Amino acid sequence: MFAEIIIDQDAKALDRVFEYKIPEDMTICVGMRVYIPFSSRMVQGFVVGIKETCNYEESKIKEIRSKIEETPAIKGEMLQLMKFMADKNHLKLASILRLFLPAEMREGRVKELFKTYYSLVDGIEVKLSKSAKKQQEILDELQNGRVSAAQLGDKFGYSALKALLEKGYIKKESEEIKRSPFVVMQEDRRVNLNEGQREAIKTICENKTYLLHGVTGSGKTEIYMNLIERTLQEGKNAIMLVPEISLTPQIMSNFKGRFGESVALLHSGLSAGERFDEWKRLFSGEARIAIGARSAIFAPLENLGMVIIDEEHEASYISESNPRYDTHDVAEFRARFNGCPLVLGSATPSTESYQRAKEGVYQLIELPVRANGRPLPPVQIIDMMGEIRSGNSGIFSNQLLADLANVINNKKQAMIFINRRGFSSFMRCRDCGYVAKCSDCDVSLVYHREDNRLKCHYCGKQYKVLNRCPNCKSENIKHGAVGTEQIVHKLQEYFPDVKILRMDNDTTSTKNAHQKILSEFKVSKPGILVGTQMIAKGHDFEDVTLVGIVDADQSLYHTDYRSTERTFALITQVAGRAGRSEAEGKVVLQTYSPRHYVYKFAANYDYKGFFKKEINMRQTAQFPPFTRILRVLFSDFDENYVRELLKICYTEIEKLKGVYGDDILYLDAMKSPIKRIQDKYRYQIMMRLKLNKADEIENEVFKIVDRASKTSVFFEVNPQNLS
Ligand code: ADP
Ligand code: ZN
Ligand code: ZN
Repeated sequence: MFAEIIIDQDAKALDRVFEYKIPEDMTICVGMRVYIPFSSRMVQGFVVGIKETCNYEESKIKEIRSKIEETPAIKGEMLQLMKFMADKNHLKLASILRLFLPAEMREGRVKELFKTYYSLVDGIEVKLSKSAKKQQEILDELQNGRVSAAQLGDKFGYSALKALLEKGYIKKESEEIKRSPFVVMQEDRRVNLNEGQREAIKTICENKTYLLHGVTGSGKTEIYMNLIERTLQEGKNAIMLVPEISLTPQIMSNFKGRFGESVALLHSGLSAGERFDEWKRLFSGEARIAIGARSAIFAPLENLGMVIIDEEHEASYISESNPRYDTHDVAEFRARFNGCPLVLGSATPSTESYQRAKEGVYQLIELPVRANGRPLPPVQIIDMMGEIRSGNSGIFSNQLLADLANVINNKKQAMIFINRRGFSSFMRCRDCGYVAKCSDCDVSLVYHREDNRLKCHYCGKQYKVLNRCPNCKSENIKHGAVGTEQIVHKLQEYFPDVKILRMDNDTTSTKNAHQKILSEFKVSKPGILVGTQMIAKGHDFEDVTLVGIVDADQSLYHTDYRSTERTFALITQVAGRAGRSEAEGKVVLQTYSPRHYVYKFAANYDYKGFFKKEINMRQTAQFPPFTRILRVLFSDFDENYVRELLKICYTEIEKLKGVYGDDILYLDAMKSPIKRIQDKYRYQIMMRLKLNKADEIENEVFKIVDRASKTSVFFEVNPQNLS
């Protein structure tokens, strides 16, 4: 018998299936990991197929050396998924397989943790010399049962232990310890489901995709929990995805509270060991619900009965580093493979998904009101140009300051949202216009006042602060747009006695920092929480009566076609944090373009109105979902090489226009907007394709690029971020 094997190495030349002979006395099944001789080394391979005959000359085929484990690490569904993703996203097989297994299983870095115990061996006559006092003490200690090796060793010394072990008086046993992530358990709070929730749960039962469009606070989480509960009762398993930033301690403890040890959590805050152990709990069937960010869609669960993507519109569901894929596609594959429902939930579905619901591809379920009957908080739009005209050129409008003062007087809480971390976005010389930039990336540096450094938000490199322009020696340095740090600083000036907390990437980099900030905020009354997107989602603080959006235009003036949609979603999310319980809530939205249509719709929570406008614009301008955008990104340390590669590919791709004509709506080659990241030069080919021929053209482009390149070329379909 022969095995088809994929080698776990990155080289492009190895990205194919190799044949190996299965030794007579070895049982191998598909999905197993094995050691195989390759060139002159032993490497790890995955068995992806088994067959009776081989394509190569039999005498030249080498034998599998050994199995890595008895149970296949990758099961049938995942092997099919691998093939699906390889075709759809043009990815290397090995890099897809890597998504399926925790890093530890591939490189053997993290091993299971074992704890060793000693106990007495029964029925043996003990003869110890009088001088062996320590040994006797150990035996006495063990009379009451086993004791951990570390404890005994510390107390009596390891040589005494060793002596007893050699004499056969005591025995050693090991027990595996599971490193499970820290979660504050919450008591399971049951609510009486309302009509809308009950209806939704009843509806979601077929092998198809449902779009659950429910306003913030409409009780979607409660629906998910009920669906999962039903799934478990049916003897099936479930996956629920949430965006990384809404993997708040709150949502985790809610699920742990209801489902206990059946839940495994997979997110980036876990240590490698914790991740591995959670993975194994799923693999072994001990845990039956996987909750996590994007990568949890690859959870090793069989027999799925429910797949849920919460906040389905979130950009983070599209992987933008290698391997690049869209989580929706993978979720769709897994749900269809298992014949179960896929639920996409959001208060602001992506234009693509809502359009699919309108076309009847997805079934639409709507929850138009909040579960507790509270109204959505009114949104007041503040024209910041008007503020300037009336003499206020500060960060905060007079209205926002007055409302904050009000919150503080009433001992309530406020959240201030600004989508930029750091103190100010850049430092620029007022005299010559010089801007401090990262030497490895073509981006301006962000000033962080806390450690008085300039930081690159793309590669993390740090620089000394600019006190004097290196170009013209002027000391007249200007700060760019404000960030979270500066907001806190300024607010503290206005309200010196109030607890002001900050939550962004910088304050949450250490373990459990997230949790600490939230717990502190919870008991700070009055209190203000300043933050980036991180505070926009999931939080349910009863006493937040005011939400301030300091610079709403931030996400609006990006050059890509999704920026309006993103702004709408962000405002809706942030606004949804206010007035969630008895106390009245309010949202103050500051903008320099108060007449932009996005604000009118957002302030009225008019998703449908916004969608109508947006989808019309997309159709007129021929943008997705009516067309497909393909970006081919070339990047390398050697600029000449990338440019050459780009030219070769472009020349070939251009010829496709002769074949496909108007089906290629747009084609151009250019430098990427950020010309360099981490010292790699970046060039790109952008294409916009008509849908009917898009798959075909995409395949032609794959072939052209494959022929031309040996290095980093990435394909992105409808990219989220065009930097
Ligand atoms: P969403 O995820 O749609 O924003 P949540 O599921 O977080 O909404 O629910 C918002 C709040 O409403 C939560 O505090 C939740 O406990 C509560 N809630 C949910 N369903 C009900 C219900 N049927 N009756 C009363 N309160 C509910
Ligand atoms: Zn200067
Ligand atoms: Zn950099």
